[in-house]
Amino acid sequence: MASIALRFPPSELPESALRLRDEVRVFVKEEIEAGTFQPAVDSWLSGISPEFSRKLGERGWLGMSWSKKYGGHERSLLDRFVVSKELLAAGAPVGVHWAGDRQTGPMLETHGTEHQKQKYLPAMARGECFFALGLSEPDAGSDLANVRTRATQTEGGWLLNGSKIWSSGAHHAHAMVVLCRTSPKDDGNRHAGISQLMIETDQEGVTIRPINLITGVHHFNEVVFEDAFVPDNMVVGEVGGGWAQVVSELAFERSGPERFLSTFPLFLEFLRVAKGTRDARIQEVVGNLTARYTALYNMSMRVMGMLAKGERVDTEAALVKDVGTRYESELTEALRLLVHERGSFAEPTRFESQLMKALLHSPGFTLRGGTNEILRGMIARGLGLR
Ligand SMILES: Cc1cc2nc3c(=O)[nH]c(=O)nc-3n(C[C@H](O)[C@H](O)[C@H](O)COP(=O)(O)OP(=O)(O)OC[C@H]3O[C@@H](n4cnc5c(N)ncnc54)[C@H](O)[C@@H]3O)c2cc1C
Repeated sequence: MASIALRFPPSELPESALRLRDEVRVFVKEEIEAGTFQPAVDSWLSGISPEFSRKLGERGWLGMSWSKKYGGHERSLLDRFVVSKELLAAGAPVGVHWAGDRQTGPMLETHGTEHQKQKYLPAMARGECFFALGLSEPDAGSDLANVRTRATQTEGGWLLNGSKIWSSGAHHAHAMVVLCRTSPKDDGNRHAGISQLMIETDQEGVTIRPINLITGVHHFNEVVFEDAFVPDNMVVGEVGGGWAQVVSELAFERSGPERFLSTFPLFLEFLRVAKGTRDARIQEVVGNLTARYTALYNMSMRVMGMLAKGERVDTEAALVKDVGTRYESELTEALRLLVHERGSFAEPTRFESQLMKALLHSPGFTLRGGTNEILRGMIARGLGLR
């Protein structure tokens, strides 16, 4: 019988992290009062404000865990967790820097060349340089090893051809890291011959085409590469070693607070609207959602604590994403049902407009970052069941 391999060892926030949390709360409150932003659901996807990102950079809240040598602040991953959690809970516009700060920066710090680190990391930590993720393709989403975008060697570098899809925020990004084939598929090892190439979005041979969300918002893109030249000094890590590099980013991508807080601003808005109610049905729903939130918060924080110690957390991170992203949708649905049962408000309210947005964004919660079906397969493997 396989042993149960899941671990969520207790991880306490140190005093310094609690002080940081209070500092972020004050900042966020002041920004809302100053009218810088209105709390919004799914703000790490659709909240776009380069000015706000720059403000975070000035405060040292981007690139928090990166080396000072590259513009970072050498703070712990738990400190970063605290800042992320407060910004997401407040529905702050963090979308433009999110992917770069969360995973491209750490990946570059580990695998990038000195030139790449010096060129990009300090600007990212200042909130002046943004990255998009170039992973998915029309026939390579869950099956990422099937990427067909190809780079062929030429004098001084590589010629990139192919296309990426669902590239969040590529139209705001200065650069993207593209997962591509640099040598033909080897049937013995599908993960060999894949590399990560960095490319600037405004260069010749790169076309970014919008794909609008159901709300009409331009968030996604198709990015087409036609003989786009990538110099040798823009290859990230080893040629042919891209698979291992990309996999190492995924625990950061999957376990963070954005996997359970996308709709939290809606919950806070509901609590504001329903304050003081004696309605037992509302109390039951609120109690249920609060209990589940508390469990998820602790799971995510504990995974971050393990990541901070350099431990492998693939299975636990997949579990947080599966449970957390379902919570995001189920929170929305529970509040929708309450509105349905109790009748709509007389005037369209902030709560209702956020509810509509959350409902329309819901289908993406369990897809982005690797679908939950795929993650459950990973969890089963982690438990020794596959
Ligand atoms: C909001 C959002 C933002 C995104 N941002 C980015 C981005 O910035 N960059 C980027 O590269 N990509 C991005 N993506 C793409 C995302 O990573 C893919 O949608 C995801 O990996 C799934 O791939 P797919 O869409 O091709 O679906 P498919 O892989 O075609 O899957 C379709 C369905 O089949 C199921 N399925 C597939 N294979 C299996 C299997 N073996 N067993 C069981 N079920 C299976 C899946 O679970 C899913 O339900 C984003 C997606 C969303 C929704």
